[in-house]
Amino acid sequence: MSVYVDNARIPARVNRINGRWSHLTADTVEELNAFAARLGLRPEWFQTCKRKCHSTMPCVHWHYDVTDSKRTEAIAAGAQPIDLRTWAEITKARREAAARTTA
Ligand SMILES: [Zn+2]
Repeated sequence: MSVYVDNARIPARVNRINGRWSHLTADTVEELNAFAARLGLRPEWFQTCKRKCHSTMPCVHWHYDVTDSKRTEAIAAGAQPIDLRTWAEITKARREAAARTTA
């Protein structure tokens, strides 16, 4: 069971905060929500694709967006830093797992 934070660092203005945003995610939604709560992130900041990203299965991209300072806090709290390739592998693994359970 692990929590991950990638290094997307996408410049954007979100909730009136200008920053560079990365994706915080985990092996399970429950673990991610618990970790995010400890970091002080609000439950309503949980992100999934607004439109279904696949026709037959739930969104595989669920995450919280975090600024660089929260990213640093997350790593200090035990999140594993990952790169965008690993983030892509995580979503691919979720897609494959979802395909197995819906098959
Ligand atoms: Zn999605």
